[in-house]
Amino acid sequence: MTKSEGIAAIFDQYVMQTYSPTATLVSGKGCRVHNPERNVFMDFTAGLAVHNVGHCHPKVVEAIQKQVAALGHVSNLFYTPGQALLAQRLSRLSLGGKCFFCNSGAEANEAMIKLARAWGHEKGKYEIITMQNSFHGRTLATLTATGQSKIQKGFEPLPIGFAYAEFNNLESVAAAVGEQTVAVMLEAVQGEGGVLPATEEFVVGLRKLCDEKGLLLLFDEVQCGMGRTGKWFGWQHYPVKPDAFTLAKALADGIPMGALVATPELSAVFKPGMHASTFGGNPVVCAAAMAVIDVIEEEGLLNHAEHMGELLAEGLRMFIDKHDQILDIRGKGLMVGMVVEGSAKEIVDVCREMGLLCCTAGEHVVRFLPPLNVKEPDIEEALEMVGDAIAEIYGEDEGEDSEASLADESGGHDSLI
Ligand SMILES: *Cc1c(COP(=O)(O)O)cnc(C)c1O
Repeated sequence: MTKSEGIAAIFDQYVMQTYSPTATLVSGKGCRVHNPERNVFMDFTAGLAVHNVGHCHPKVVEAIQKQVAALGHVSNLFYTPGQALLAQRLSRLSLGGKCFFCNSGAEANEAMIKLARAWGHEKGKYEIITMQNSFHGRTLATLTATGQSKIQKGFEPLPIGFAYAEFNNLESVAAAVGEQTVAVMLEAVQGEGGVLPATEEFVVGLRKLCDEKGLLLLFDEVQCGMGRTGKWFGWQHYPVKPDAFTLAKALADGIPMGALVATPELSAVFKPGMHASTFGGNPVVCAAAMAVIDVIEEEGLLNHAEHMGELLAEGLRMFIDKHDQILDIRGKGLMVGMVVEGSAKEIVDVCREMGLLCCTAGEHVVRFLPPLNVKEPDIEEALEMVGDAIAEIYGEDEGEDSEASLADESGGHDSLI
């Protein structure tokens, strides 16, 4: 038994099987991770859009180490400088209002749902319109907000207060608005639902609809926020401002953290005692998040992500011409989806054998989420591995001569750290 297999055996025996893990990983640096056998993988999952500045970025590691040695946690019964400064920073980057800190994406969305309900309470408004194929989390309220029946099945009865509309279809949202509607909630780029960006027409139309009907416009930026799409927040691609949005995944580079960010008016709705979190915004996570924002600024990662995203999408688009089974390349910045006719999982599995980690987004979309500081040669290496995987699954295409030989050069399983 290899070390990896030994770990997997204990894991499967004692960890509830809500996932089906594939490889065992023990260390990482930048956009590469390693298993116990010292094989190298190119990591284009980045911990599921978490490591936007790469694995173990020295500035983030240092910030965490320093803070944890000085003061790790005191709870929100006390002021801490890191939380104050982080909230100020996020506010200045976005809506000029206030923040609430928690520990995950689902929790941030719960906070946003509660804030919307509290805002609408006096008028008897509570229902939130969300989009089909959205993803907002796995708590009872957020799985209900999630417009996918496969996520909800088996957990009924679901909480009331949610209605669904079709993404990128303004009429569908308008038709769902009722007396009790309080808000519309969406992802600027649907992540789990298939790496699908909202159209400008849709988002501009939603803002107008919300203004006319007195509704809040809420963005779930848990996956597409923190520079992933080439801007700080996905909604910044559109000429609108939301009333509130949420962050999590990449916010503190793997130290669990979520945030709700709202306009000054909406922020004022929460009064002492209305919402809380024991761990939320503790000194260590805030130090990590400050370091993440510093690194994104200092290393110019917003522009870089946009540029690298173009290279990756362009490279993937070449496969459309070569293989009929590859239908579309879509996304924004370094949130890139490859739509395939067959099984996306099959491609992900073969890519992993080649030494590239990527993930699925639904049945037919392969999702690539490299760290934002990925370099051009890394993109090229990944594209070679994707090309090899596609060739292995769909067969060599005429006019291509070198796919087989690239397999030997791609590093993957043979390279030692
Ligand atoms: C991952 C994700 C969530 C849930 O975040 P957790 O930290 O897993 O609770 C919510 N919304 C979106 C858009 C996500 O991608």
